[in-house]
Amino acid sequence: MLICEKCRTLMQEGPCPRCGNSLRLKEAEKDDICVLTRQPRIRADLLEDLLKQETIPCVIRADQGLGVLADMPGQTYRIEIRFSDYERAMEVLGEV
Ligand SMILES: [Zn+2]
Repeated sequence: MLICEKCRTLMQEGPCPRCGNSLRLKEAEKDDICVLTRQPRIRADLLEDLLKQETIPCVIRADQGLGVLADMPGQTYRIEIRFSDYERAMEVLGEV
């Protein structure tokens, strides 16, 4: 699995589907922070609860690039986890 060093998106092969970067990609290692998913706030909060129940550490951040107001309609939030938790987190994601 490759990880984009610019936006932390995971992919099987480049270029990055999120930002188009093809130069700053590297093989993901277990301590790398990666983006699990991007969701509207309400769903991001729900997933955060579920991940915490599974004791998977995660951080929610507002995605950039959609203007100055954090809670404007259409704003997405990204859930960041460690790559070592990725497979477990994907299982949680699959249950929602
Ligand atoms: Zn990227």
